[in-house]
Parts: sequence; C-alpha cells; structure tokens
Amino acid sequence: MTIFDLDTNLASLLGDKGFIQGNALKDHPLSAVTVPRALIRPASTDELSEALKLCHRVGQSVVPQGGRTGLAAGHLASAEQIVVSLERMNQIEDLDQRAGTITVQAGVPLSVVQEAAEAKDLMFPLDMGSRGTATIGGNIATNAGGNRVLRYGMMREMVLGLEVVLADGTILTSMNTVIKNNTGYDLKHLFIGSEGTLGIVTRAVLRLRPLARSQNTALVAVNDFENVIKLLRRASSVLSGDLSSFEVMWNSFYAHVIHHSDRHTKPLEDSYPYYIIIEALGSDSAHDDARFEAAMIDLLETGLVENAVLAKSGAEQKAIWEIRDDVESLRALAPLFAFDISLPLKHMEAYVSDIEAQLSDQWPNSRTVIFGHLGDGNLHIVVSVGSDTAQSRDAVEEIIYGALRGRGGVISAEHGIGLAKKRHLGVSRNPEEIALMQTLKQALDPSGILNPGKVIDLPK
Ligand SMILES: Cc1cc2nc3c(=O)[nH]c(=O)nc-3n(C[C@H](O)[C@H](O)[C@H](O)COP(=O)(O)OP(=O)(O)OC[C@H]3O[C@@H](n4cnc5c(N)ncnc54)[C@H](O)[C@@H]3O)c2cc1C
Repeated sequence: MTIFDLDTNLASLLGDKGFIQGNALKDHPLSAVTVPRALIRPASTDELSEALKLCHRVGQSVVPQGGRTGLAAGHLASAEQIVVSLERMNQIEDLDQRAGTITVQAGVPLSVVQEAAEAKDLMFPLDMGSRGTATIGGNIATNAGGNRVLRYGMMREMVLGLEVVLADGTILTSMNTVIKNNTGYDLKHLFIGSEGTLGIVTRAVLRLRPLARSQNTALVAVNDFENVIKLLRRASSVLSGDLSSFEVMWNSFYAHVIHHSDRHTKPLEDSYPYYIIIEALGSDSAHDDARFEAAMIDLLETGLVENAVLAKSGAEQKAIWEIRDDVESLRALAPLFAFDISLPLKHMEAYVSDIEAQLSDQWPNSRTVIFGHLGDGNLHIVVSVGSDTAQSRDAVEEIIYGALRGRGGVISAEHGIGLAKKRHLGVSRNPEEIALMQTLKQALDPSGILNPGKVIDLPK
C-alpha cells in the first residue's frame, strides 16, 4: 500500500516556484509572524484547483493571502497551515473599453488596475492607502471600502463576475460581464466579503467608470459636530453628483499627524475640532473648478465652515491627502488598539463623547485618535492606554463595542472580522444571522479547511 504524502504531491504538482517549504520559507516576508507548514503559489486556476483537491483529501487547512495588508488578522496562518498566495496570478487578462470592464487575476495589485484603467481613459474607483500592495483578490475577499465609497460604493458594487475555487477544488466560473443579471441567486455575493472562508478568488470582472475630467479638493475646518453633518448634506447638494469624498479628521488625528514629522505642510492651523477633506470628481473640466470654488464660498458664507484651503494644483491635492493617508504615523502611539466601526450619523457625536469619557475615566493618560470616511458613517478609532495586555484589550473593546449596542452600530465597517473581531460578532449580528453563516460555511467547506477559525466558528 502506498502512503499518500501531501507535500510530495504538492511539490510535484506545483514545482519549485509553486511549492515552498523549509528554509526557503524562513526568509519569506509571510514568515515574520509564524512560519507556516508551506507556501503554495499556483500559476493558474487549474493548478490551485488540483492543489486544493489534494489538501481536501487529507483535511489540510489553507489560508489565502493577497498583499497581507488586511487589518483583521484574516491572513494570518499557524505553523500547521499552508498559505496560498495568489502572487503569481497577477495578469490583466482583458480591458474592454467599450463595455467599461476589466478582467483580472486575483493577485493583481489595486494600483495596477487603477493605472491600466487610466491608460484607457477609464477609472477603477476603489482607492485606499494600501493601493500599491493590496490585491484585487484581497479587496474582494474583504469587500474593501476606501476613500470614494460615498460616490461609487464598496468593492461589492464594482464586481461583475468572479471565478472562485471551492474547498474541494471545484472551479466556480461566474465571469459575468453585464451589469444586469437576475438569473437566480447572485452567487458572487457569497464570496465578496467572506475573507477567504468560503472560496479562493482567482479571477474577476470589474466594472470601470469614465475617467473624471476634473478633480477638486479642499480641506476645511469646522467648529462643531452638528455643523459637520450639516456640511455633508450641503456639500452633497451644492456639488450634486460630483461629491466623491468627505473624510473627517478629528483634531486628535490632524494635530498628531502634522506634528509627528516634518513631512507634511500645515494647510490649516491645528486649533479646530474637526478637519474635512471634501473632494469632487467631475466631467466638465471647463466649468468644474469654478463650480467647486463657488460651492466652497457657499459653505463659508453659510457659516458651516470656519476656514478652508482649496488645492490649486495636483501637488497641493496630494499634500492634503497625504495627511489623511499617514496612518503609519499613529504607530508612534504604540501600544495601541485600532478599530473600524460604523454607526448612523445621528448617534455619532454621542457615541464619541461616550467612549472618550469612559476611556479617560479608566485611563486618565490615554490617547484616543479619530478619523474616518464620515460620508459612509465609518470611523477609525485608535486608542492608546499605555499597555497592550489581553486584559487592557478586553477592557478597551468592551468600551468601543459596548457603546455601539443600542445605537445601530457595527463592529467592522470595512476591514472585516478575521480573527481580531470574531468573538464580538454578536454585537452586530443576531443569532439567526450567525446560524445562517454557519450553514453556508458548512455547505461550502464541510471539512473546514478554508481559513478555519476566521469570521465564525462552526458549532462543535
Ligand atoms: C495603509 C493602509 C490603508 C488601508 N486603508 C483601507 C481602506 O481605506 N479601506 C479598506 O477597506 N481597507 C483598508 N485597508 C485594509 C486592507 O488594505 C484591505 O482589507 C485590503 O482589501 C486587503 O487586501 P490584501 O490583498 O492585502 O489582502 P490580505 O491582507 O492578504 O487578506 C485579507 C483577507 O482576505 C483573504 N484573501 C486574500 N486574498 C484572497 C483571495 N484571492 N481569495 C480569497 N480570500 C482572499 C485573506 O485570507 C484574509 O482573510 C488598509 C490597510 C493599510 C495597511
């Protein structure tokens, strides 16, 4: 009787470039946390399918990885697990200018898709600070959000078709290219946002938009939160469909970033409670600049805005966005805990006061930094209490998530659940929803080999 040896079979299927183990893996960046049992790097959907059939046969668990920029620990693997990286599946297969679609492999970085679209006078609107490293597969698996959700929606709204390999190696090709397709269940939505627990995304058809002909950006300062909300409504109205970003930085974020290093200019003094980046993407380059300027004058005249800077060049726009994107500088507050919540705007001010009061009661020297995609009700909250023990984490999480209860809030707006937030899923999902998630997981991955332990646990 021959004994089935998984590693030998994977090595012979995938070759030297596709199967990496032992010392070769120790230097790989993914081993920074834990060295996994092996890394597989399939070059095609068929190779991945065959590899998963082998893993399925022996119940070997696998963890899909894209650019490893995820913030919910969904991509972390343990020493017994095999990592599946899509890094060799990094081709743009087709760009159909007339249809406004792009067909890509899952390992293509987001910025490469953005650039390919722009080269053909089109735009892929998903955008975020991790654009150079995050991959389309990861963006789909996390249903990524970013800076322009207000106008274009999340990743879910940009995916027309998908190809996925299921846990048993079945290839599900659902590469729809049309916007309207109501032929039964829309299966792609099962996999978008499933964080690699239901299938591994290998290819996708994405929807492109016309390239904006104008981009106008302003940084404005506002004195109270009620005016921030009024400003969002007024800006949506005066800029009508062109408003693409409404990003708010509390003073705690703005002041920290501009004083942290000399990298940034200081477009506005650091004495205001709130700073907002307002951006409009338009289609009429001849008139949009004047329209944006008139909109800013309107906002100043209505008294909603205390001070404003209008970017006059691409370099000035970049300088404003660099302040918002400089989340790296928050590492200086380590040890820290980071959160990505959302809640209805009507509860936001009370929520923030509530958590700030609870945090400073418990840790008088704590720091709380807040910023976010306010147009989408999404806040990023960074809390530093001077310790990162499990006990401190539990206590901070209890405050941040506890205050969402009864306010219609959710524990993850865009980064996902992964490992980091799994035990709090019940704050945002009721038992019936969790039970249906478990049913889906069981149906698609009965042996539990796909990213096990992430998002939900199966009942014992
Ligand atoms: C500086 C910075 C800014 C960020 N800004 C934003 C932001 O504005 N909005 C936002 O939403 N996120 C943001 N993120 C988080 C992160 O970039 C996104 O979650 C991104 O979509 C992850 O892509 P990735 O390729 O790095 O995936 P990874 O981190 O490698 O994986 C993320 C999850 O997806 C799964 N996965 C990866 N590839 C596949 C695949 N092919 N098939 C199935 N499952 C897969 C993994 O198992 C894991 O659960 C930011 C991160 C950083 C570091």
